[in-house]
Amino acid sequence: MKLYNTLTRTVEEFVPNEAGKVKMYTCGPTVYNFAHIGNLRTYLMEDVLEKYFRYAGYDVTRVMNITDIGHLSSDADSGEDKMLLGAKREHKTVLELAKFYTDAFFEDCAALNIKKPDVVQPATGCVDDFIKVISSLMEKGYAYFAGGNVYFDTSKLKDYHVFFNFKEEDLEVGVREGVDEDSNKRNKNDFVLWFTKSKFEDQALKWDSPWGVGYPGWHIECSCIAMKYLGEYVDIHCGGIDNVFPHHTNEIAQSEAYLGHKWCNYWFHVLHLNTSGGKMSKSSGGFLTLKKLAESGYSPMEYRFFCLQSHYRKSLVYSEENLANAATAYRKLKAKVQALSEEGEENAELMNEYKNKFSDVLGNDLNTSLAVTLVYDVLKEKNLSGKAKRALIADFEKVLSLGLLEKEEKQEAKGGLSAEEIEKYIADRAAAKKAKNYAEADRIRNLLAEKGITLIDTKEGTTYKTE
Ligand code: AMP
Ligand code: ZN
Repeated sequence: MKLYNTLTRTVEEFVPNEAGKVKMYTCGPTVYNFAHIGNLRTYLMEDVLEKYFRYAGYDVTRVMNITDIGHLSSDADSGEDKMLLGAKREHKTVLELAKFYTDAFFEDCAALNIKKPDVVQPATGCVDDFIKVISSLMEKGYAYFAGGNVYFDTSKLKDYHVFFNFKEEDLEVGVREGVDEDSNKRNKNDFVLWFTKSKFEDQALKWDSPWGVGYPGWHIECSCIAMKYLGEYVDIHCGGIDNVFPHHTNEIAQSEAYLGHKWCNYWFHVLHLNTSGGKMSKSSGGFLTLKKLAESGYSPMEYRFFCLQSHYRKSLVYSEENLANAATAYRKLKAKVQALSEEGEENAELMNEYKNKFSDVLGNDLNTSLAVTLVYDVLKEKNLSGKAKRALIADFEKVLSLGLLEKEEKQEAKGGLSAEEIEKYIADRAAAKKAKNYAEADRIRNLLAEKGITLIDTKEGTTYKTE
């Protein structure tokens, strides 16, 4: 398989440390709020990657952390703790908040057909591991104690900026607008491994440590959780592109300082989902969740299809119109798959050709949009029976997981009409408009509205949403 590696900035052949096995680590959610659909884009593409590894015959072990401590409101080592802010806002304890949003996260994942990782580890369960690694970093001279906190000393490394050749002045960690510079740091990129003196005295969760009662920094949790379950070598580490700096840079710094050797060979980053106003973000407040999409009439599978239509290394622009077009395409595609006959022969040779093509496009830096195009090609193929097409699509679905073969359950939700019937009304209305029979077009619009189906006219045609 060929995959773009952020570390080398090239598309490379993926070769795991142990033949046939993939040790995969994915940065998990911060559980102080619902995941927004941008976060979910990252998890969706990681899910496709994991499933493709399995499809290609690898034995995958995938680990994910849950950030339930130590994630501050800015990526600098100051500001307010996001978990504490969330707990205050919702009148919950920090642990209740974490449980609520962890459950909500996995509900979203289930709705999107995202497989749960083999290991899911909340950071609060690994404090002893953090203390062990931080103690070792202190002994080795990679960490220092200043002003009540333990810092990682980035000047001890030959190469700190492993991902990009950042310009020093672009890396003003700790001196962003509204954030005070931390005068305890020896170098401006140094970061906190353990806090005892936080800016917020009422920090809810604290643990005893050799440096006093406190709590870990954000970066150390991923290094330790990865090492705990995957050992000294990780094959591939994943996250959203914003994790490259400082999070993944700091993970590499501390892990390799601790282990004394290279830690992870491949870094997979998903570009952001943006809105017209810029990156969708959890802290900004104005974000969309899966629930909000459902309220607007879009299903999780339609969102999955929307994401799979574009490459993970391109920013994806969200607008209701873009999603509406993807949703229409998805509904039509699903209707075609559902209408396939279950009869006929299976032409193994031709089917294998399609399977190989499918594997090739995904094996070429995870080209999900070409993989989706292959489903259309299969549907059009004259030399395959309905049964063979179903079998092929079922095979592709091991990776795509678009629910194409699943029977529609919520017929009533669409006013008792099937997707095909609605599309038929839409086509009739378009024909009526073309013939300038606006009364008929309005009649169809009103008829559907009475059934709770709202039509949306876009440049690419008409789509709809349900109540
Ligand atoms: P968080 O819960 O904020 O730590 O983020 C969870 C994951 O979502 C991380 O891997 C982030 O890099 C990723 N992420 C954050 N914002 C976006 C976005 N707008 N588009 C895609 N991924 C994102
Ligand atoms: Zn992480």
